Amino acid sequence: MQRPANLTESGGVQNYIDGEWKTPTGGEEQQIVNPASGEEIARVWFSSREDIDEAVRTAEEAFNTWRRRPVEDRIQPFFQYKQLLEEELDDLARLLVEDHGKTLDEARGELRRGIENVEVATGIPSMMQSGTLENAAPDIDESAVRQPLGVYTAITPFNFPGMIPLWFLPYAIATGNAFVLKPSEQDPLVPQRLVELLARTDLPDGVVQLIHGGPDTVNGLLEHDGIVGASFVGSTPIAEHVYEKAAANGKRVQAQGGAKNHVIVTETADLDFAAEKTVSSSFACGGERCLANDVALVEESVYEEFVDLVLAEAESQIVGWGLNEDTDIGALITPEHTQRVQELIQTGVQEGAELLLDGRNITVSDYENGNFVGPTIFRDVSPDHTIAQEEIFGPVLGLISAEDLDEAIDILNQSEFGNAASLFTSRGADARKYRHEAEAGNLGVNVGTSAPMAFFHFGGRKQSFFGDLHAQGEDMIQFYTEKTVYIERWPDT
Ligand code: NAD
Repeated sequence: MQRPANLTESGGVQNYIDGEWKTPTGGEEQQIVNPASGEEIARVWFSSREDIDEAVRTAEEAFNTWRRRPVEDRIQPFFQYKQLLEEELDDLARLLVEDHGKTLDEARGELRRGIENVEVATGIPSMMQSGTLENAAPDIDESAVRQPLGVYTAITPFNFPGMIPLWFLPYAIATGNAFVLKPSEQDPLVPQRLVELLARTDLPDGVVQLIHGGPDTVNGLLEHDGIVGASFVGSTPIAEHVYEKAAANGKRVQAQGGAKNHVIVTETADLDFAAEKTVSSSFACGGERCLANDVALVEESVYEEFVDLVLAEAESQIVGWGLNEDTDIGALITPEHTQRVQELIQTGVQEGAELLLDGRNITVSDYENGNFVGPTIFRDVSPDHTIAQEEIFGPVLGLISAEDLDEAIDILNQSEFGNAASLFTSRGADARKYRHEAEAGNLGVNVGTSAPMAFFHFGGRKQSFFGDLHAQGEDMIQFYTEKTVYIERWPDT
């Protein structure tokens, strides 16, 4: 497995500023631990305000040249980058398993989703064009252009360290901006490796910087006058904080928050298929996905049958080390998070839901120090139970019996979150009603996990999203550019 090449002698991650690897100078440090074994695999030092300033000033300088480069030149590094990512995919996936705890298949899938964004960003010469109209007024032609704005930052979470940085970076750069990435301090090895690979392309030094750190680093970036815009992905309270702080400091901002996603199963659904997809949606990546559907609203006429199917499917899930081929559910990120998931399971029991399958106190042989929670299923959950309302971010699925589709959509819409939902049905009219009424940003029909491809935007509603332009695709072009209109008259004098 290829660890980042630019770690310090004692295994510390490093910042990448102006084409050089530099040890963060903020002083604070923390261990990076393999969540399955509990062993330290690296360390993260936090960046100081001076590090941030150096990164942003370097990016500002690089921007002045980069923005003037022909767009065709600006996309060339991404063809090279795609090639490098493909060549390194397996090594990156193994590193991702070691640093995050998910399974190898999940890690590969995540990276593939990241690479998709690199591919889409190579289309920016077409995507960045705006409209032109001759004779818009007497003797007047009008045309609109999109222009890059400056230095953007993205602050990313722990759960998709190989994909989420790529929701932003390729679009920011190909549109002509410069960029500072601040990945999660919990698993920064893959983001560092992503930047190491980018450094092997012809991208000029200074266009992309990597800054390691935690909350202070984020606040330092948001307060810096050289940053024009910020993208954030993480939990809802921090998304709200970032949204407010960035706006108060005069920056563009898009902030994606936490989630609580629902699957609706109607009586006309293919129940075997729906059960299989529901289980994989709620337990994959240990449930640490913002798109995990962890509440199933099931029409009462098929509720008992669906409960049995889901239970059988869940019982077959194997928990363990992500590099073992037969593992279905890997480790959770930290012992603290594991404890929180276990406490929420206890809350579910205390509030009266029936625990059909209990994933607490599971041990995995050879990985006794790992952060594992097994598949957990509750039936007869009530919409007002804590486990039906709060994001759990663990392999816990709650089943609710709903009288009909109307009631199911009502329950779904009562959620304070609105990231995603899935409907299983074979009736077009049900699908249409749900498409019109369900309040979530990513709506799947007969799809387990409603994750859009990179050429569509990705974003939620309500407490799952703060801002207007979402990640990925066309929204990214708008976020990373400002529009100017030229109104021209050229009399033939
Ligand atoms: P988090 O909010 O703890 O951390 C995200 C980022 O914010 C990290 O880079 C971290 O360093 C920084 N941060 C943490 N505390 C901060 C503070 N007080 N001030 C400023 N910055 C701070 O999130 P996480 O635990 O890394 O990720 C899991 C969360 O992300 C879940 O809630 C999940 O639903 C959400 N998520 C959402 C989406 C989406 O598209 N909506 C996608 C992935 C993950």
